[in-house]
Amino acid sequence: VSIMRGCDNFCAYCIVPYTRGREVSRASSAIIGEVESLAASGVKEITLLGQNVNSYGRRSGGKEVDGATELSFTGLLKGVSGVKGIERVRFVTSHPKDISEELILLFGSEPALVRHLHLPLQSGSDAVLKRMGRGYTSGEYMEKIEKLKKLYSDMAFTTDIIVGFPGETDEDFESTMDIIKLVRFDNIFSFKYSPRPGTPASDLPDQLPEEVKSKRLAILQRLQREISMEQNISLVGQKKRVFIEGRSRNDAMEVTGRTPCNRVVNLKAPLELKGSIIDVLITDAFSNSLRGRYLGGDAQC
Ligand code: SF4
Repeated sequence: VSIMRGCDNFCAYCIVPYTRGREVSRASSAIIGEVESLAASGVKEITLLGQNVNSYGRRSGGKEVDGATELSFTGLLKGVSGVKGIERVRFVTSHPKDISEELILLFGSEPALVRHLHLPLQSGSDAVLKRMGRGYTSGEYMEKIEKLKKLYSDMAFTTDIIVGFPGETDEDFESTMDIIKLVRFDNIFSFKYSPRPGTPASDLPDQLPEEVKSKRLAILQRLQREISMEQNISLVGQKKRVFIEGRSRNDAMEVTGRTPCNRVVNLKAPLELKGSIIDVLITDAFSNSLRGRYLGGDAQC
């Protein structure tokens, strides 16, 4: 469910504020109404979408706008989580500078809010973050991650990284690798920097050669594959609640689903379980997915 569009951040490499315009939040009542209709038609999991989703309602700040009470982002999350029939609520994509204390605490008090946060880091180097215009330092990013990890040991993190931003040195790249080792993300969406015409970064000096960008990307992705594998292996033997999404793409005899932390699990189970949340024992791990065993019983929600 889209809750806002546009973006006010103007990161140096991004075209979004120019193509989609400035940030506009939808009315809270319209969003909750849409979620209620989806729930009435059987939907159990909702993902709230926005370019900068966690700055939702920043202008209204949970106050009255045009005669209607507009909720803050955490207020909206509570409202959506409270809709009858909604079992899981996610949101994407968050900006690190807009992760509030209230949002951090909500992961502990709102059972439907899954403990998975996609939080784009982009670079671990403060110099690069500054040139990107991201509005936070690596220390501020880590402070939020550490707070969340301390409160919720089962919290999963994913991120976006751009390698080879103009002027990125070997040391800058190493700073990114250091944060990847520290956070141990479940998954990383990593890209080589490519200039977008009309953005300030495309005019920056010190554009990096393609070979340097490719080499750094390969190093980063190798490290992440190892971490993802280790993270997945640590789940073998655990019982997870899995939302069955449909038939597995790789094996017609299997179904596929997701854990609350958004990990893909494939297992042998009847296709009629599609749309159900069932108990699954994790039996095997791969770098991008898990295998499980349906524990049977009355696990349907
Ligand atoms: Fe906005 Fe994200 Fe683009 Fe930055 S990268 S300008 S936060 S949409």
